[in-house]
Amino acid sequence: MLFETIATTGHEQVVFCQSKDAGLKAIIAIHNTVLGPALGGLRMWPYKTDEEALNDVLRLSRGMTYKNAVAGLNLGGGKAVIIGDPAKDKSEALFRSLGRFVNSLHGRYITAEDVGIDVNDMEYVYRETEFVTGVHQVHGGSGDPSPFTAFGALQGVMATLNYKHGNEDVGKYRFAVQGAGHVGSEFIKLLREQGAKVFVTDINKEAVQRCVDELGCEAVGIDEIYDVDCDVFSPCALGGTVNEQTIDRIKAKIICGAANNQLSTDQIGDELMKRGVVYAPDYAVNAGGVMNVSLEIDGYNRERAMRMMRSIYYNVGRIFQIADRDGIPTYKAADRMAEERINAIGKIKLPTMGNDGARFLGRMRGQ
Ligand code: NAD
Repeated sequence: MLFETIATTGHEQVVFCQSKDAGLKAIIAIHNTVLGPALGGLRMWPYKTDEEALNDVLRLSRGMTYKNAVAGLNLGGGKAVIIGDPAKDKSEALFRSLGRFVNSLHGRYITAEDVGIDVNDMEYVYRETEFVTGVHQVHGGSGDPSPFTAFGALQGVMATLNYKHGNEDVGKYRFAVQGAGHVGSEFIKLLREQGAKVFVTDINKEAVQRCVDELGCEAVGIDEIYDVDCDVFSPCALGGTVNEQTIDRIKAKIICGAANNQLSTDQIGDELMKRGVVYAPDYAVNAGGVMNVSLEIDGYNRERAMRMMRSIYYNVGRIFQIADRDGIPTYKAADRMAEERINAIGKIKLPTMGNDGARFLGRMRGQ
């Protein structure tokens, strides 16, 4: 049954990790390593059942394969989950034992922060393995990814405006931004710098007030955000907010934001296409965070990171080309772009030097 499941999802390897002494119950899922080592975050969540944890890690790791492929990274997709309550069950032993399991995979899986995990937890993982990103800046880590994600999302907006209107003049358009958290507030700042009109909502009233006072935004209610007369609807909070209840209310002809899993179902994506609404696929638009941490592998460099974010403009534009070429909705075109890249690179028969080769050369040069 389990093999049937992972054969259907296309996973290469699923590792069940347990340590009674450390209280560790974790699953590492490596979906695809054709493009490179599988990179994806570590999530800690009080899953009610083992099956729930397994389904989550399989779904998330597969998602990382597509995200990393579309982002143009030389990385495959993977993810890890720890079954436990982040508020109660964290300990040094827990994260160090997880680190040893990650290390035992010799770099086939590289971990990072995800829901329920912070930079201090990663410090413990880092004591046991070098195959970890998102560590503290003192260890060469890349720090908070949110400003990069926001800058990347702006590139996505420009590519989408260009596709829909033939210009990238952000300042000419009105945006409805849902969520003014880490990414949303940075994204709004960038929009305002370009002179765009920004409507904002958040369940956190102080965050909204800051946007009004410091950035000159117009505040709207949590539910009103869907009715705002605007050009671009930007989900930057939770997933699933473009759904059966909201689709008729959203007036914007462009949906482009940083939140994950914006469409509640694939059918909503089909419907958007029918209505002539351009949806910029979330995982292509919000890839700035993963691009940023990926640079830690070679040695982090901020300038390189900013250059890399600009490629989101090209990636999103390419998705629209594929959608038009094949007459398919953009969410499907993003998946197709990922699959085409993985297939093309997978067919290259020439030998690769790989990471070990590069390190070896580095050592030779240093002698
Ligand atoms: P965050 O927690 O800092 O911000 C989310 C904000 O949304 C909070 O201010 C919260 O109060 C608000 N919010 C929650 N429910 C809301 C609702 N119903 N209506 C309006 N506002 C609501 O998180 P973040 O790091 O800014 O991430 C935002 C989204 O972007 C998430 O979906 C996340 O998965 C995605 N994302 C983030 C990054 C990153 O670099 N941080 C990278 C890729 C994707």
